[in-house]
Amino acid sequence: MHGTDHLKEAERLMTVCNSCRYCEGLCAVFPAMELRRNFSDADLNYLSNLCHSCGACYVDCQFSPPHEYNVNVPKTLAQVRTDSYRAYAWPKMFQPLFDRNGLAITIITALSVASFILGFALWHDPAVLTTDSGQFYRLMPHNIMAALFGAVALYAILALVMGFRIFWKEIGAGSVSAGSGTTLWQAGKDAAGLRYLDGGGVGCYNEDEKPTDRRRLYHHMTFYGFILCFAATTTGTFLHYFLDWPAPYGWTELPKLFGIPGGIGLVIGPLGLLRAKFTRERDMTDPAKFGMDTAFLAMMLLTGLTGLLLMVLRDTPAMGVTLAIHLGVVFALFLTMPYGKFVHGLYRFGALALYAAEQKADRAAAPSGSPS
Ligand code: SF4
Ligand code: SF4
Repeated sequence: MHGTDHLKEAERLMTVCNSCRYCEGLCAVFPAMELRRNFSDADLNYLSNLCHSCGACYVDCQFSPPHEYNVNVPKTLAQVRTDSYRAYAWPKMFQPLFDRNGLAITIITALSVASFILGFALWHDPAVLTTDSGQFYRLMPHNIMAALFGAVALYAILALVMGFRIFWKEIGAGSVSAGSGTTLWQAGKDAAGLRYLDGGGVGCYNEDEKPTDRRRLYHHMTFYGFILCFAATTTGTFLHYFLDWPAPYGWTELPKLFGIPGGIGLVIGPLGLLRAKFTRERDMTDPAKFGMDTAFLAMMLLTGLTGLLLMVLRDTPAMGVTLAIHLGVVFALFLTMPYGKFVHGLYRFGALALYAAEQKADRAAAPSGSPS
């Protein structure tokens, strides 16, 4: 018995694929599947988080629709994967947020926070909206900004870690050597390089069935753009509190050196991924997760765009409004992070760590002289 119809369908497909095994060289899903004869809900959640929805197994499969076997691995695993984000969310009472984390709600949250900050500034010091001094902290004092954003960031980290812990335990990663240094290192390398996104080496498939590697490029730009922006904020906070060196920073100082390429990555990457989303073959995607995916990409894009705009408009009277919008977007991004697409990075890393441990154990158990 399975918890959902999506899990039931995933078990049916994995049973068919386990007999066929034609796709075993395409990605990590099939070798992981071959180590199992039965598929529990946790096994299927693990396998679904190994899948990148590249579409190669759909295009290659002789049993994909309109065949009566109706084998559609990318779509079914995408559905199971989306359900798994909700199932492992922490705290449990916030699980329904996954159903509402669409584009409209996220944008409304960002605009509400921006309006609140603007309203507060107008009440406190209306001149801040017309000044061209580039003084960010006239809009909101630095200590209040740090306390507010620090609190929401800490909550997001706590919720993400707790959700990841539940996932890790349920898929059984805690009972094998998935937490060892070598497997974590291997999983980190596989995740950072998106090793299994390329459909066995050719790239991702779209409507025209011509594989390309562009999705990997845009994913890298989004991920590393986010990391660089995070580094810019962290170094800015360090300079402010530990070296008594407040913003704004010069073009050759660390917050800018991290922030500019990070912001550019957060604009180009999400735009490319949004475009890729609209050109994917509809039959192999999960329509229910479209809103959550676009909300996540839109928030990443708006974070990069408003951050870059703020840098350009810093010394103009538009600084106050631009800063309020940027802060609203970042606040909404943090707030929705544990209940949206952002969690996929953590779960994928956990699944890759278990995969690395299982493959290592399997190689160790194989009789000497057998093919690896
Ligand atoms: S997706 Fe199709 S071709 Fe690939 S292993 Fe499954 S049944 Fe075989
Ligand atoms: S869609 Fe790609 S990553 Fe997912 S199971 Fe098929 S080949 Fe593997």
